[in-house]
Amino acid sequence: MASEELHTLLAVQDHDTALDQLHHRHETLPERAERQRLLRDGQAIAAERDQIAAQRDEIAEREAALEAELATSEARATQIDKRMYSGEVSASRDLQAMAEEIGRLKSFGSHLEDQALELLDQREPLDARIAELEARLTAMADEIRRLEQAIAIAEEEIDTEVGREQIARDGLAENIPDALLQRYDALRKKLGGTGAAPLNRSSCGGCHLTLPATEIDRIKHSPPDTLILCDQCGRILVPPG
Ligand SMILES: [Zn+2]
Repeated sequence: MASEELHTLLAVQDHDTALDQLHHRHETLPERAERQRLLRDGQAIAAERDQIAAQRDEIAEREAALEAELATSEARATQIDKRMYSGEVSASRDLQAMAEEIGRLKSFGSHLEDQALELLDQREPLDARIAELEARLTAMADEIRRLEQAIAIAEEEIDTEVGREQIARDGLAENIPDALLQRYDALRKKLGGTGAAPLNRSSCGGCHLTLPATEIDRIKHSPPDTLILCDQCGRILVPPG
């Protein structure tokens, strides 16, 4: 194993580590988690808004029915009132009955108005709560849009960097024999992303454990083409030089 190839492999490892970090950053953008949280909260708020709106609509329907009933009753009273003063009716008994009917309609009307006021009292706090929830939903939608823009910008930056790293990595990897590269890739998969590490003095740059003096001695005296693996973690060790 030519020493140059091993040093190139270390450079490939650096690019692969950078790529792994970029992919991790892409997956764990804090804005994405925040967006998810807002979407979840927004669903709960919208459900509450819908539930209150259903109550409000039911009250509003009852108010509309009362208004219609009141209008009918008032129209009827106006009609009787007109007839009373039209001169068509002259019998005092009839006039008396008509006056009584108008009185009944008026009292019924004021009863309907009281009911309508009660319904209004019930509806107003619901309207206020709906407006409050809708204002919150609007603010959340704005924030979600802002986060989505931030995510898009961050992803674009990361993708550009990934492209750069990948080109540099592939350019270096071309100079490494396939067998060594395959071995490195297999180790990378097995050992959390690091397949090759420098030998720093007497410790492995991958697992950071100190190699026994006899092992260091063996490495120093092995032929230059020997592929050295850390006897602690199994990673490809690249001696300095
Ligand atoms: Zn090691």
